[in-house]
Amino acid sequence: MNTAIYPGSFDPVTNGHLDIIARASSIFDELIIGLVSETNKENSLFSVKEREDMLMESTKSIPSVRVKTFNSLLVDFAKENGSKMVVRGLRAFSDYEYEFKMSLMNRNLDDSIVTLFMMPHQSYTHISSSIVKEVFSFGGDVKNYVPEYVHDKLRKKIEVK
Ligand code: ADP
Repeated sequence: MNTAIYPGSFDPVTNGHLDIIARASSIFDELIIGLVSETNKENSLFSVKEREDMLMESTKSIPSVRVKTFNSLLVDFAKENGSKMVVRGLRAFSDYEYEFKMSLMNRNLDDSIVTLFMMPHQSYTHISSSIVKEVFSFGGDVKNYVPEYVHDKLRKKIEVK
């Protein structure tokens, strides 16, 4: 079975993430979304359970997708799941430096790990979970950028200024 890992903090999952998930799941037999349970991004808006729930709800139509939380080295998580493939999304040029460092570090930790970069549809190249949260909190319209389920959760969580 050809399994790939798509890691991230998904706070919350956006249509940009879902675009990458759809593309990756069309290539691999199984795609495991690795939800990082402890992020170094201070104060996540949503708890791990909430982030997991939104990911599961938003990917329920794709049977080959599974959501698993982890809090260890990505290369170890990949190995534990019998995978050598890590999928990452590349939006703008600004993603490149961080992704370059991370993929080389992972390769140094385990030379058999391959990082595959995918570009989302151009309508999602400018969005991130952070921008969606910020725009939403000031009353901006983010309906095109998150599934309806996630939009409802944002409404319950964020008091619009
Ligand atoms: P991380 O904290 O690891 O960056 P994120 O949840 O922010 O976690 O992102 C997970 C992955 O999804 C990363 O590879 C990121 O580049 C990618 N990603 C985030 N937003 C988008 C988007 N709008 N389009 C494509 N890829 C995206």
